Amino acid sequence: MPDTVLMAFAPHRRVVVFGVDGVRTDTLAAAHTPWIDAIAAEGLYAEFELNDLAPTVSGPGWSTVATGVWADKHRIDGNVFADHALEEYPDFLSRLRAAWPEIRTYAAADWAPLVSTDSLGPVFATPHRALRVDAAGGGEKAGPFGHDYDATGADIAADAARVLGGSDYHASFVYFGEPDEVCHYQGVCPEYTAAVERADQRIGTVVEAIRARPTYAAEQWTFIVVTDHGHVDEGGHGGRDPWEAQAWIAASGPAVPQGKVLTEHVDIAPSVFRALGLDVDESWGLEGVAFGERDGVR
Ligand SMILES: [Zn+2]
Repeated sequence: MPDTVLMAFAPHRRVVVFGVDGVRTDTLAAAHTPWIDAIAAEGLYAEFELNDLAPTVSGPGWSTVATGVWADKHRIDGNVFADHALEEYPDFLSRLRAAWPEIRTYAAADWAPLVSTDSLGPVFATPHRALRVDAAGGGEKAGPFGHDYDATGADIAADAARVLGGSDYHASFVYFGEPDEVCHYQGVCPEYTAAVERADQRIGTVVEAIRARPTYAAEQWTFIVVTDHGHVDEGGHGGRDPWEAQAWIAASGPAVPQGKVLTEHVDIAPSVFRALGLDVDESWGLEGVAFGERDGVR
């Protein structure tokens, strides 16, 4: 870390980024997702096209969310994390921990490379507490149709609710892989919608636990929900079809502008720092800006 003088951290500020893998905008709109809808209604909701620097694949997508730089910088263009530049462009939890030692960080995921050395990860390298639950144990595809991801999603929601509700973690990443898995197997269908609705309920489990904190009224929480890419109708992604080369962000919190805001994946990390009242160090070379700081609000 550079030895520039950084802003003091306000310990009552907290932020959770919920990652929900592979959720198309039309399925999100059709699904009953009261928790995501409430976050969007209190803050912002943005849909955007993935640009040419953004492969429509989970590895680069989540790496861009985590680091605040595009794939040409973090050098992850697939789901094997070889030759990456995550030491140069670390995830936002690692940056927070390194620059502000009093900040405590948490990550939970049922896609192993996000929080473990599987496939030469992890993307989130140094959280104080990490929960890894494997939906496809032993590296084999669990079947049928992501039922395993249903179980691991429940495990993640339970752990995140207990940890974030009951102790003091300032910044977190909580990931649910089930919608992507279901769409890969079954395409766009009612089961896919149901998986998106389960992810929403799990976000709600965590948010409710946070709101039940005895200290909640004195805290300022920011909630961000983001997907990494969409899917083609028959299930699958990686190309440039408009249905796969798309994503969305919903966010609410004291520093989040309301309404329609231009934003994209590289803005998540700067917005996490902003949620905690912290400024991005220019020497980090981040390529995004905090929500609302792009020109041309729609
Ligand atoms: Zn994905």
